[in-house]
Amino acid sequence: MKFIEALKLRSKLFFLFLLITLGLISVGVMGTVNINSMKKKIDSLYFGSLIPVTELNEILQVYHGSIANTFYRAKSSEQSPSESLMQIEASLIKIDELWSSYEKHFKRDDEVEYVEYVSSEIRSANSFFGDILESQKVGVELTTLSTISIDKKIVHISSVIQKLINYEVDVAKYDRKQFLKLYDSTIMEVGLVLVLIIIAVLFISYQVFRSIQKDHTQLEITAKKLRNANRKLETVSYTDSLTSLHNRRYFNLVYDRELKRAKRLFTYITFMMIDIDYFKQYNDTYGHIEGDNALKEVAKVLKDTLHRPGDFVFRLGGEEFGVLLTQTDEESSAMLAQALCDGVQEIKIKHKTSQVSDFLTISLGVVSCVADDALDEELLISHADKMLYYAKERGRNRFVIDTSVSGATAVKEPWSIKEVSV
Ligand code: GH3
Ligand code: MG
Ligand code: MG
Repeated sequence: MKFIEALKLRSKLFFLFLLITLGLISVGVMGTVNINSMKKKIDSLYFGSLIPVTELNEILQVYHGSIANTFYRAKSSEQSPSESLMQIEASLIKIDELWSSYEKHFKRDDEVEYVEYVSSEIRSANSFFGDILESQKVGVELTTLSTISIDKKIVHISSVIQKLINYEVDVAKYDRKQFLKLYDSTIMEVGLVLVLIIIAVLFISYQVFRSIQKDHTQLEITAKKLRNANRKLETVSYTDSLTSLHNRRYFNLVYDRELKRAKRLFTYITFMMIDIDYFKQYNDTYGHIEGDNALKEVAKVLKDTLHRPGDFVFRLGGEEFGVLLTQTDEESSAMLAQALCDGVQEIKIKHKTSQVSDFLTISLGVVSCVADDALDEELLISHADKMLYYAKERGRNRFVIDTSVSGATAVKEPWSIKEVSV
């Protein structure tokens, strides 16, 4: 059933539909053909055997009931001669009619000869009775008739016709037997074909549905793979390859979202702009590869220090990092900024050309406030930038925090600046 699996879903369903249709058509055709042949058989049984027997029986009846009886009644003067003559004449005509009707029915080869014999016997019997009628017309009285010769004739013709009747009855019995046999075998045949068609349709349907199921499973697997690949791609597209921190693209996304959320909930939002001190000198002294390693180390400190679900650390570019904290007040934000300063210094990355320490240090510009409607996207970043500038200006290895941004529609100096140095 490989070819079913190779078909497309639409073709599979069409194939099944075609199969069921063909099955139904063939059952219908078979049924019609068999019903027609049954009809013919019943017809031939009825008109080929039953009607001929009835006609022959009627002829017998006419000979006995009409002709013989009329003669007896005429002889015993129970009936007038003219009436008797008319009755006998009518009976002879009726016999002729019945016989010619009988002769018209289908005759088997083996009965033709006997039928011809019966025909000649009927003709001779009828001419016998015809002669009697003629003689009566020329004056012979019916009362003087010899009943013996009439009886003989009637008995003879009756036995000849009876033989034909027996033959026809035998044929009818035989035909009936044959018909019943044929009926049984036809029923068996139709039943068998029907069962075969049902089995075939069930089997093919099962194959088609199994293959559809397989396709569906395959589709689900592919969709799952695609979803995973997309997820990976998304992760990659939002991750900085050097430090594995979130990149600027992700920052743009999260920053906007978290700022809106904080505004909506009227909660704290903190943004930190972080820059490594004298990093150009560091690169110049230790080389670019060491510089990259140092970036990774600093990133690790930032990540390890800020691990709450609402804390986000980004590498914004070069040796600049961004930190976004949600629901963290000024005091906690200041403490965390201090922890970041300490953390970087504590990993003791040697920096002999730094003018503030023997080790690598960072400076931070921090803005922390309750988000209100007046707080716009630029404000937080520009203030954090400015705070970073102040931190650098005031000697580096420190953070400067601004907690007065909230509610300001325009930047008004002097800000309330809380400066902490290490
Ligand atoms: P300051 O204390 O004023 O910040 O001094 P600075 O030397 O750090 O000055 P600045 O921030 O302008 O220096 C940026 C330097 O950072 C320039 C470049 O050599 C270095 N840098 C930027 N991106 C990378 C990077 O991906 N890898 C390495 N190794 N160095 C980088
Ligand atoms: Mg810089
Ligand atoms: Mg720098």
